[in-house]
Amino acid sequence: MSASTRGFSSSASASSAMILEEVDDLIGAESGWVEAKTSCDHLHTLSFDLYHIPHIDTPCNICQHTRENWICLICKDILCSRFVNKHMFNHYQETGHCLALSYSDLSVWCFNCDAYLDAEFITQLRPIHESAYLFKFGVRPPIRGTISQVREPDRS
Ligand SMILES: [Zn+2]
Ligand SMILES: [Zn+2]
Ligand SMILES: [Zn+2]
Repeated sequence: MSASTRGFSSSASASSAMILEEVDDLIGAESGWVEAKTSCDHLHTLSFDLYHIPHIDTPCNICQHTRENWICLICKDILCSRFVNKHMFNHYQETGHCLALSYSDLSVWCFNCDAYLDAEFITQLRPIHESAYLFKFGVRPPIRGTISQVREPDRS
């Protein structure tokens, strides 16, 4: 008797997990993102104030290149990409500052994780994503992530 109860509950949770996966797939397919991590062990190094950041047109601190730069999320230096003079990458090697946001496409990269991070999902990254989005598009980003908030277990 207990065996059949256990069988029932595990199959129920498996099917709800499948639904969650389908939702994730839909979101991923729609936005066309490269797979981004939703967690990172280095977020404690972030600057505590990521709302106030240099403007998106700020030139690279070192070579004065003006377009598609990166912002270091630890010290807020503006540095150029690996396709220009690699000053962001050099900065990471010199300082160990591993988190940066691209002013080109607003993606967040962690050099230590060697991966993109989901800036809309990770709470600590939302301020920088919002500020950069505001610079780029002139409006606040649409709120994503409401799906998981609505999906609270019904305990009435
Ligand atoms: Zn990381
Ligand atoms: Zn540069
Ligand atoms: Zn830095």
